[in-house]
Amino acid sequence: MNSTILKKAEDCRKACADFLRDLVRVQSFSTGEKEVALRIKKEMEKLGFDQAWIDDYGNVIGRIGQGPTRIVYDGHIDTVGIGNRESWPYHPFEGKVEEGYIYGRGASDNKAASAVQVYGAKIFQETCSTKDFSIFVVGSIQEEDCDGLALKYALEKSIGNVHFVCMGEATDLNVYRGHRGRMEIKVRAKGRSCHGSAPERGTNAIYKMTKLIQDLEALNERLQTDAFLGKGTLAVTHITAQTPSLCAVPDGCEIHIDRRLTWGEDKALAIKQIHDLPGFDHDAMEIVVPIYKTPSYTGKILQTECFFPTWVLPEKHPLVRAGHEAAKKATPEQKPIIDKWVFSTNGVSSMGQLNIPTIGYGPAKEDDAHTTNDRVKIDDLVKSMAFYAFLPGEIGSQK
Ligand SMILES: [Zn+2]
Repeated sequence: MNSTILKKAEDCRKACADFLRDLVRVQSFSTGEKEVALRIKKEMEKLGFDQAWIDDYGNVIGRIGQGPTRIVYDGHIDTVGIGNRESWPYHPFEGKVEEGYIYGRGASDNKAASAVQVYGAKIFQETCSTKDFSIFVVGSIQEEDCDGLALKYALEKSIGNVHFVCMGEATDLNVYRGHRGRMEIKVRAKGRSCHGSAPERGTNAIYKMTKLIQDLEALNERLQTDAFLGKGTLAVTHITAQTPSLCAVPDGCEIHIDRRLTWGEDKALAIKQIHDLPGFDHDAMEIVVPIYKTPSYTGKILQTECFFPTWVLPEKHPLVRAGHEAAKKATPEQKPIIDKWVFSTNGVSSMGQLNIPTIGYGPAKEDDAHTTNDRVKIDDLVKSMAFYAFLPGEIGSQK
């Protein structure tokens, strides 16, 4: 059977690459995924999935098999923007192929995942018995905007009773089992405005905030480290001030903080650490965790606080072992390792919030995500299709 799956994956090389090039051509920034979801649904129907639908939030979902072990393959179908068009050496939405790579916005992050998961599930259906499994391939929306939110909805409301999740985020053909959590924090400082010609009469909110910012920079240096996940981090990423005029002392200042939480760090700790800084003025400052409530392209709103927990699946967990076996079969010439992501993924909800065992396996490289070198190697699409065809059988034999 091993050689049958590997051969089928090789046979699907061109179809899968063409499908991915099509997905790249259909622009799909977060909250604008409708067309790409329809394109994926069409491919699922063409390939003979048992069911393919778009849920009311806008995720596209396809099912193969009707067995008791329910496995979700997740790839997010939205992309970040392109930034400055001038800095792209090629057209970001053309699906260019050069020297064995497909280039374009979203190629690596994360449309390659959808392409290989759709074809991998199809190969599984053609080569193995599906009686023990239900495979759901999810193309989730709005991940770049609010990771975890759309997948959580698909898992809880649109599918239900899911036992395992495998995400296609970039792992360079390795098996990943966790990453640091993420949280957004705003700090607001109040000042007292007065005429800019006599600043001593007022309290400058920018000066107040500047002291705190210096403390935050120092706090980042001493955040704790975990042997597997690495160090927690903190970065001030935005600042605004409120002032009645450019010749007045500002009476408000707000900063935005990107906080990455390592193992052992949580929301309460992250907030307390800021509270305890000498530059934090308890009378004039407040800390806020923002609420995400941007509507999806269907118009549906799911609200969530911008806090996404740290998650790690133990190395000895049957799903990690199954993933490792599937990876070894998919790339017999390589030695796939078990590792973690630096960035954040939909695993914050599947594992972090819902506690459903989750791993990741994807064809692209994390370093290429969100760059103008957004690309994936076609050979690696073939290997990843094989992985997704092997995985259910390996999960079955671990139980
Ligand atoms: Zn991604």
